[in-house]
Amino acid sequence: MRLSKVSRILATLAAAAMATLGLTAVQAAPASAAVRNVCYTTSQAGPFASYAVQAAAIWNNYTNNINMAQCGSNLVISYTTGGGSYAQRTSLGNGRVVIDTIQAQQYSPLRIMTHEIGHILGLPDNYNGNCAILMSGGSAGTSCTNPYPSSAEAARVDTNFGFAPLSATGAEVFTGSWPAPATTPAQH
Ligand SMILES: [Zn+2]
Repeated sequence: MRLSKVSRILATLAAAAMATLGLTAVQAAPASAAVRNVCYTTSQAGPFASYAVQAAAIWNNYTNNINMAQCGSNLVISYTTGGGSYAQRTSLGNGRVVIDTIQAQQYSPLRIMTHEIGHILGLPDNYNGNCAILMSGGSAGTSCTNPYPSSAEAARVDTNFGFAPLSATGAEVFTGSWPAPATTPAQH
């Protein structure tokens, strides 16, 4: 059977299924899965609320399958002083991000925020020291202020929220991404 014919049959079946559901094919079928909202709240974010908004905008700009908005408390942004920034993912797109105010004076607060949200979106750490990689976290040093995911990281998030997650995206706590910077120069 020619592929074009298969496509026609599939289109007919899809139309029939939609008719059964009472839907009409007003919009063209999207190439990817439906966009999923990731609702976050800054009600506990204190001085980091604006960074959360910026980080959400970055993730929205770099991905196709998610839309971060202040529409609920699936993701709670909060902060602490000491003990380290971390992300506590309860499931994909759900959990809590905690920003350490001390680390935010050493590292870029926006990079910390975008990185920790990356965990909520299903990304693991990748401590390779490369500033172009968002999930390299503190391994790229305090001078690295890049808050943007690489194309591969963004694509992985899209895949996580698409049909088949690439990685384990269930409950997990991510700590230790932002080690205290060395107080003395490295010895050669
Ligand atoms: Zn991390």
